[in-house]
Amino acid sequence: MDNKIPISSCLLRGALRHCPQCGEGDLFQSYLRPREFCENCSETFEGLEAEDGPAWLTIALTAHLVIPLLILLESKTSLSYGIESVILCLFTILCVLLILPIAKGAFIAFLWLMKKNRV
Ligand SMILES: [Zn+2]
Repeated sequence: MDNKIPISSCLLRGALRHCPQCGEGDLFQSYLRPREFCENCSETFEGLEAEDGPAWLTIALTAHLVIPLLILLESKTSLSYGIESVILCLFTILCVLLILPIAKGAFIAFLWLMKKNRV
């Protein structure tokens, strides 16, 4: 396929854990392990190492969700610190587990797009 894929579509496909080229095949073979190639269009994902980028993005996004919750719990409730800590820890873990694969998919899709445009 030589068609130019808009960067927004490419990032969305990656964030949805689909192949950035066809949008059909799975990008990951497990929770965070990317496939070597797309089963649908045979596009290769070799050499696309997201490294620490998805983790940093996940930390930044999670902090922007957890801090407002902390402020809300402190200002609007009279829960004990122990209960607040449990709520915040569980919410943080949930956010990380949900955001990390999305961030990694978007990063791999971005790297794939940069690799394609470089040629
Ligand atoms: Zn594909």
